[in-house]
Amino acid sequence: MTTRSLSIPQCAIPDTPLGRASAGLDACVHCGFCLQACPTYLTLEDENDSPRGRLVLMRAVVEGTLPVDDPDVRTHIDRCLGCRACETACPSGVPYGQLLEATRATLTTSQPNAPIARLILFVFAHDVLLRLALLGGRITRALRLSRLLARLPGRLGFAMAMLESTRRAIGTASYRAAGDGARGEAALLTGCVMEGLFTETNRATERTLTMNGYRMHPVEGQRCCGALHAHAGDLHRARALARVNVAAFERTGNAYIVVNAAGCGAMMKEYAHLLADDPAWAARAARVSDRVRDVSELLAAAGPRPGGPLPLTVTYDAPCHLLHAQRIAMPPLAVLDAVPGLTLVPLPGSEHCCGSAGIYNLVEPDVSDAVLEPKLANIAGTGAAFVATGNPGCLMQIGAGLHQCASRARAIHPVDILDASYDRLDTG
Ligand code: SF4
Ligand code: SF4
Repeated sequence: MTTRSLSIPQCAIPDTPLGRASAGLDACVHCGFCLQACPTYLTLEDENDSPRGRLVLMRAVVEGTLPVDDPDVRTHIDRCLGCRACETACPSGVPYGQLLEATRATLTTSQPNAPIARLILFVFAHDVLLRLALLGGRITRALRLSRLLARLPGRLGFAMAMLESTRRAIGTASYRAAGDGARGEAALLTGCVMEGLFTETNRATERTLTMNGYRMHPVEGQRCCGALHAHAGDLHRARALARVNVAAFERTGNAYIVVNAAGCGAMMKEYAHLLADDPAWAARAARVSDRVRDVSELLAAAGPRPGGPLPLTVTYDAPCHLLHAQRIAMPPLAVLDAVPGLTLVPLPGSEHCCGSAGIYNLVEPDVSDAVLEPKLANIAGTGAAFVATGNPGCLMQIGAGLHQCASRARAIHPVDILDASYDRLDTG
């Protein structure tokens, strides 16, 4: 195995996203340090389903030794979770996530995404349709149809189990949040799935930030962050949504932009990259990206303030887009540490993907299930009653898996636990 990189002599696809991003391929020295971090390589045991193998395929497309419409290239690129654990493991700084998005954007020009993926991306790009879909989800959940239909086999059953898992895992807090606003202003990305299916978690986010000295600032005109589109190679729609959000959050001055969904936070921190080639928006996007913080970052910066006693046994699963994309490891643990009486049990393999990965669990169900299986076994081994994780995709993937194996454990956002602890402070 060679230990040096080879720059690309001539690019066969110069006017494509992958062609423009291809310099990033040169950083790979083929050392293989990333292999053991890669969930699809560990599951499928095929070099083509490893980061190194996928980078070789990307290079072959760039050099023209494999065509853009090669079905095997598409298969192995499709099977990537985009979890970016390989980036954390890589000593050479290969920008794998950016290369993956550029590759998908290039491949989809000749081989469109699967119909189910196109339908989901279409709905998420159209606000009215998305609101209707989320309303339908809430009605299905309220009527308990999701619980009934979760017994069905296959993807429909799993999708219903995902919806069922969004049912509140802990009582809704009733305390009145109060703070002096001394730590500055914060504007929440309410998000589409978070506001539609985890509405109370958004309110808990606002309450806990207020309790920790942030003054919450309303944000009109915000939309879906565009992460699903970017990850699926639909850069046109991702950029359109990013521009709407940049304009919306500019109206909040210098407030922190706080995000409680790891995937959305990672996306907003990358708006600068996404719009880098747009002269009208590049500088504006960079300023907005600079202001983005995960909720756990802001809470940890404030302590956070301890709550009232809550004797829960909790384990923590790190969302990939928090740990690997944003490199945030300790702040969520600081949030849980502020809850007196909480017992935190370490989760083996917490750094590995759960198999959610945006819409991956719907378009690549077999690999997704295989990646989720060891996660569920590890969770069961902790004996914890709650699995804390700060991303809606992970909450629903792990929650659905727990539901379908009749586990009593529930997936929950760390902020909901802190919020419940503050509720005890008020009443206890
Ligand atoms: S991506 Fe990084 S870790 Fe993986 S083979 Fe290339 S240089 Fe090594
Ligand atoms: S993003 Fe995740 S699944 Fe894809 S190559 Fe990297 S480690 Fe493997």
